[in-house]
Amino acid sequence: MTTLRRRTFIVGGLAGASAGVLVPRLANAISYPFTLGVASGEPAADGFVIWTRLAPNPLNADGLGGMPNTNTAVDWQVATDERFTSIARTGTFTTTQASAHSVHVTLTGLEPGREYWYRFRTGGHISPVGRALTAPAVGTSPELSMLFASCSHYEEGYFTAYRRMAEEHPDLILHLGDYIYEGAATTTKVREFAPAAEISTLANYRVRHAQYKTDPDLQAAHATAPWLVVWDDHEVENNYANLIRNDTNPAGDFKARRAAAYKAYYEHMPLRSAQAPTAENMLLHRRVRWGSLATFHMLDTRQYRTDQACGDGSKVCPEADNPSRTLTGTSQETWLIDGLRQKLGTWDFLGQQVFFAQRLNSADGARSMDAWDGYTANRTRIQNAWDTNGNKGTVVLTGDVHRSWAANLMQNYGTQNRIIGTELVTTSITSGGDGNAADNSLNPTLNPHVKYFKNLRGYVRTRTTSTQMNVDFRAVDKVTVRDYPVKTVGSYIVEATNPGLQAP
Ligand code: FE
Ligand code: CA
Repeated sequence: MTTLRRRTFIVGGLAGASAGVLVPRLANAISYPFTLGVASGEPAADGFVIWTRLAPNPLNADGLGGMPNTNTAVDWQVATDERFTSIARTGTFTTTQASAHSVHVTLTGLEPGREYWYRFRTGGHISPVGRALTAPAVGTSPELSMLFASCSHYEEGYFTAYRRMAEEHPDLILHLGDYIYEGAATTTKVREFAPAAEISTLANYRVRHAQYKTDPDLQAAHATAPWLVVWDDHEVENNYANLIRNDTNPAGDFKARRAAAYKAYYEHMPLRSAQAPTAENMLLHRRVRWGSLATFHMLDTRQYRTDQACGDGSKVCPEADNPSRTLTGTSQETWLIDGLRQKLGTWDFLGQQVFFAQRLNSADGARSMDAWDGYTANRTRIQNAWDTNGNKGTVVLTGDVHRSWAANLMQNYGTQNRIIGTELVTTSITSGGDGNAADNSLNPTLNPHVKYFKNLRGYVRTRTTSTQMNVDFRAVDKVTVRDYPVKTVGSYIVEATNPGLQAP
């Protein structure tokens, strides 16, 4: 692998040396800068975003990846074939140190519903090749192969599940949060975080993101298909709410910390410039249409939320039902309800972080205050909006809890009256370490609408047509040992006009 790459560098080097001189070029001044791989995201019918970041020494403590403080020209190519014999677009992006030499190119004017391949070149070095897809045209509803994942703790396991996702060759991948974890390094797990301290500065967030992106399994998953990403808490700090921090370690201004975390997140994700942060604010909720088949409503349940009620945790807490409490913030709630009422496609997928259905943890009614159960009025308003609008094909896609779950969403959880939607919860990629196939935490007495639970690491595979969605919970037996095979541990069908889980 290394030998092949080096040969490619030499060939690329000759080409690079003779390339234009309009913008500063590195002319072999740096070693291989594409150590973080490539990525695509935000598919639309006419384009997508392609991403990379130049980082010859990705773990340098200053967070600048070993790049000189020189604006650097990066050539890019998009082709309709994997061998780049048919080039659809080319261009040059100029990186800056202010953006940690990240590259975000937004492609437009491409054909809908097809595959493309892309790569980058600078200083005589050529990047790996990535595969992207444009969304199908509105008015068409071709089958969609989509995977979703969350919670990738670098220290707690190898990213085998990301590798297996790449091997599935999907059209689209959703990451629903906890892409990185912010904690300090430990020496008791399978590998160790860089930097060693809990991250709270821009340099440290950049190094942590860079460390993640050096993982070859994660790189493979990014290179295989476009991603839609939304964060949860650990991209900043465990269980933070809006500008309210979880604890005071490390000390410092939390607003500045959130700004640093959001900036580093943007720099490392294939997002559009509309998502670029301004100080501690970043507009992450957005709609992505997949033709007339589906609309993805990607939600941000951290940035605008009311603080967790009753001190967080699993609680019996009447305050959780206070109608003034919000997980989405008022503006995002209005935007979501407006989008649901438009019913732009057969399916409405809510890509979001925390458990949506009611889930009683004990007979006394204790519920998780960090999830929608801590913001029940907000949940009811959203559910009622899609229900009264007749959106039968509404499916909530969830991460966060490090276990696979599936549930029917009920118009009234107390009386169990009427199924109005479906929730699919992906387990973690690694968080929590190796699972336990024998674990059964389903409690059908307390939660009759919750139908599935599995404590193994993995992801969810979906295949969606205009009539039904086939769902497979995919899992690996271990993540503390490399290279386990993936298997299907549970399957459901969801029908577009009949909400809820069906046996396959
Ligand atoms: Fe997590
Ligand atoms: Ca989380």
